[in-house]
Order: sequence, then structure tokens, then C-alpha cells
Amino acid sequence: MAVDAAAQVIDGKAFAAGLRGRIADAVPAFVAATGRAPGLAVVLVGDDPASAVYVGSKGKATVAAGMASFEHRLPATATQDEVEALLARLNADDAVDGILLQLPLPGHLDEQVAVATIDPDKDVDGLTPVSAGRLALGIAGMVPCTPYGCLLLLQDRLGDLSGKDAIVVGRSILVGKPMGQLLLGANATVTMAHSRTKDLPALVRRADIVVAAVGRAEMVKGDWIKPGAIVIDVGINRLPPADGAAKGRLVGDVDYAEVAAVADAITPVPGGVGPMTIACLLRNTLVAAHRRAGLADPEGF
Ligand code: NDP
Repeated sequence: MAVDAAAQVIDGKAFAAGLRGRIADAVPAFVAATGRAPGLAVVLVGDDPASAVYVGSKGKATVAAGMASFEHRLPATATQDEVEALLARLNADDAVDGILLQLPLPGHLDEQVAVATIDPDKDVDGLTPVSAGRLALGIAGMVPCTPYGCLLLLQDRLGDLSGKDAIVVGRSILVGKPMGQLLLGANATVTMAHSRTKDLPALVRRADIVVAAVGRAEMVKGDWIKPGAIVIDVGINRLPPADGAAKGRLVGDVDYAEVAAVADAITPVPGGVGPMTIACLLRNTLVAAHRRAGLADPEGF
């Protein structure tokens, strides 16, 4: 479909590939210093097919970066104690620098309690209460991968974010809240919007930076956007299939065609924020490995 697109497309796929390459280049120096590769353990409970695909691609990307990948699968019937016991073993395992508990867990398990048992220094998903607290306090820690990826794309585009007006639409623990903290840490002036926000279009219209993390297909419209704004679309939504198609199209939380005609730059869906998430998971694993080994953080990440 032809689109009247004034905006530049922010190519997250290419940026993520570059980041993964730089991570792979940094691994040999870590191996030389410590005698072992950085290690990422991924825990999958149950047999949700989408989660199994995510876990598979995380494992492949880890190995491709020269790191060690440890995959642990527990049955859907696993108890809370069994999940926590596995996480405790991984906390104690010196070969493991990062632990990722693939969410969602089966309904009978308490996700928050399970996540909180992960050693914060190995919390490469940045979801433990300690990681959230460190981020809020501005202390070095692990930052959730998706918002960190958004920050990297914004800084690549804009350089210094000081004084920029930013709005984050969505306040989830996974994306919206840490995104707000990261933007604040980068000296942007941040508005956090959510389902109870009044006159959202008017607030979005003030922003130089718009991050949409809502989970509602094509909600952010072209006439909400200030001309020249940068728009980061975190949403991944599948539309109902068109006649005869097996699957519907994937779209973001932003009406791409409308917004691209007004914004300065925009991330596409797919190929924008999505690829950044795994690249930042590898980045977090590399950083966690350095800190655990008592080495300075690798430069340029
Ligand atoms: P959640 O469902 O956890 O949070 C959605 C947020 O959007 C909530 O804070 C909610 O507000 C807010 N919201 C809902 N409706 C409206 C509305 N009409 N106006 C304003 N705010 C609204 O979602 P996530 O943050 O986990 O994910 C958001 C999207 O990002 C999803 O599409 C998800 O698939 C995608 N995603 C993509 C990733 C990637 O790698 N690209 C990674 C993670 C998520 P309230 O708090 O008031 O309910």
C-alpha cells in the first residue's frame, strides 16, 4: 500500500543487528578475562506455543553472540515451590549471569512472587522490585529490555533528550513505567498517560517524543501528533484476518499511515521496537556478567 509518508522510518531491525554485532565483538574480551562466556538462563513453565517460540529465539540469539545459553523447561503443572527452587539454583550457579523467567506463567502460579526470587544482579528482564527501585533511584541496575531499546532508538535519533517533552502512553510494569523513568533519567519532561487520562489527544499533541505502549491497535491518530515529533510504537496487535487470509496483519498502537504523514520519524511494526528487545536482553546479560565478575561495564552499551 502506498503511504504518504513524510516521516523517516526508524529501522529497529538494522539498529538491533548492529547492537548484537557489537555485543558479539565484546564477548571475547570477557572470555579472556574470566575464562568463561557470559551465560543466560531462560526458564519456560508450561507449553504455551508463543512463549516456546520466544524462548527458542532468545536461545539462538544468545549462542549467536558467543554466550552460553541454558534452557530450563518445567511442566505446566509445576508448583510455585518447584519454580522458585529452580530460580534459586540458577541464582547460585556461577555460570549463569542472567535469568529470564518467561511470562506469562500458568494461571495457578504467582508471577510477582516468582520474579522477586531472582537475584537482582542477574535480573536481565529488570522486573524484580529491587531492579525497579534501582531504576527509580538512579542506581546502576538492570533495566527492562523493551523500554531500554526504545531509549537507544530515541538517543540515536535525537542525541541529547534534555528538555524534550515526552509522553508515554501506558503505565505497565514491563514497558510504560520503566520507559517514563528512563526518559526522566535522560532529562526529558515526562507525561505518563493511561486509561484514565483525560483528553489524551491534546496531551500527545504537546509532545516532541511519543512512546505508545497500550496494546490497542492503531489507537494513536495522525491529528494527535505535533508535526516533527518522534514516535516510538511499542504495540504489537494482530488485526482480524481479512477475507480468505489465515492470519490478520500485525499492527502497532499507532495508526502508521496517518502518523507517518505528520511525524519526523516513526518506528514500524514489525521491524521497529520488537527486534530491540532481544538485542537489549543480550546487552543486559553482557553487562550483568561484567558486574558479577568485578569488571568495569563494557564501553558503548
Ligand atoms: P499492558 O496491557 O500491561 O498495559 C497497557 C497500558 O495501556 C495500561 O497502562 C493501560 O492503562 C493503558 N491503556 C489501555 N487502554 C488505554 C487507552 N484507551 N488510553 C490510554 N491508555 C490506555 O500492556 P504492555 O505494556 O505489556 O504492552 C503494551 C503493548 O506493547 C502491547 O501491544 C504489547 O504486545 C506490546 N509489547 C511489545 C513488546 C516488544 O518487544 N515490542 C514488548 C512488550 C510489550 P491502565 O494502567 O489505566 O489500565
